[in-house]
Amino acid sequence: MAETGSRWTPSSWKSKHVAQAVTYPDEQHLARVLAKINALPPLVTPSEIERLRFQLEAVQRNQAFLLHAGDCAESFDACIQQNISAKIGLILSFSLILIWGSRLPVVRVGRIAGQYAKPRSSSTERIGDKEFLSFRGDIVNGLAPIHRTPDPERLLSAYFHSAATLNHVRALLTSGFASLHHPRDWSLSHVRSPSLRDEFEKITEGLSDALDFSRTIGVDSGRDSAPFERGGARGALGEVDFYTSHEGLLLDYEQAMTREFLQAGSSVGSEGNAYYNTSAHFIWIGDRTRQLDGAHVEYFRGIRNPIGIKVGPTLGNDELVQLLQVVNPNKEPGRVTLITRYGASKIQDHLPGHIRAVKDARHPVVWVCDPMHGNTLTSGTGLKTRNFGTIISELTSCITLHASSGSRLGGVSLEFTGELNDEGFSVTECLGGSMELGEEQLGKRYQSFCDPRLNFEQSLDVAFLVSNYFKD
Ligand code: PEP
Ligand code: MN
Repeated sequence: MAETGSRWTPSSWKSKHVAQAVTYPDEQHLARVLAKINALPPLVTPSEIERLRFQLEAVQRNQAFLLHAGDCAESFDACIQQNISAKIGLILSFSLILIWGSRLPVVRVGRIAGQYAKPRSSSTERIGDKEFLSFRGDIVNGLAPIHRTPDPERLLSAYFHSAATLNHVRALLTSGFASLHHPRDWSLSHVRSPSLRDEFEKITEGLSDALDFSRTIGVDSGRDSAPFERGGARGALGEVDFYTSHEGLLLDYEQAMTREFLQAGSSVGSEGNAYYNTSAHFIWIGDRTRQLDGAHVEYFRGIRNPIGIKVGPTLGNDELVQLLQVVNPNKEPGRVTLITRYGASKIQDHLPGHIRAVKDARHPVVWVCDPMHGNTLTSGTGLKTRNFGTIISELTSCITLHASSGSRLGGVSLEFTGELNDEGFSVTECLGGSMELGEEQLGKRYQSFCDPRLNFEQSLDVAFLVSNYFKD
């Protein structure tokens, strides 16, 4: 059991068991790299992190909706202009559809600019007739079997790829890319389905008219989320609010990016100070590393950032409440987001109990549905995939189970990509959707080296579905 009373420091996790630990061949090399990372500038600022906490409070009060989305894992090679722009474009398109349907502001948190580490169910894998260490994400080792030995230099490389990605995101969002007045810059240039295009264009035209009208009568704030203004008119990364996130898996890296800043009214750290993880605005604990007495929970309890916890079918009701007690003893709103991922056939058995336990303990949380991670399967041809229908099934069950439990779904967490191949076609990794992707098409443009992602069209299908739910 984690001791909430014991003193927390950025390195106190080291006294606990570290799930998914990485063993480096040269500890001194690792120490040198971590010292370098610790001296490099923060990637995000405390004020941006505080702004996200504030906005997540609004989500909790049902005054906003959270969209958490991006790749299962980023790769260093995919850190190119087109991919980053496509991802931001898809997140903007998706959120626009949600805003239109729900009439609520959307808090956008990308799985981006740091999502380089992956947990593995087995530490080794068989390739051909040989056993190799498993691929743990670009921040640890390489996908090619000859590069599987963990290399500390990759931690530094992850920092610089995160910085390059974030710089491009900031540049895009401060230079008008997100403007609703010309959404074609970032939206549907390649969508082939006429019905999807028509539906989306109706929304952008409607919103554009609404903006023109607001400007005419003098109330245009130039932003889409005025209701949660706090400290200045600009969003976290530019003219719209956008935040970064990743799974906080490699605690060495997370510790090196943890910095102490003055924080009025904080209850952690020394008087008036707080520790911020400056590698991302939001980090989450994965389903494999959320042990109550483990190193990850210990690290997460001491940082000021809003955090996520993945909640799967193996988490008991009492254990969930104990976890919340450890990471949020003062029951601060906006601090914890629970990202549920049971699987379409299991959600009914687990979600209502979890909602009841959290309610009874009076813990403030944001509830988010991840309909991806409990629904992964292997296709007849051996590819890891997910079925659009099953994803929708978990999502719709989640919405209705919240409603029947006197709760409300606050957001969705998705793995999707706006990436296109050289001929301008979307990826083919998940089955179904309005484009009716069949098993025989899966191999065509399967580009993920990790979990299968919804493509642009399938993502917009999900967006319309969620948006329609909240319209009623
Ligand atoms: C993920 O979000 O990519 C992931 C590994 O999820 P989980 O921890 O829920 O399995
Ligand atoms: Mn994943």
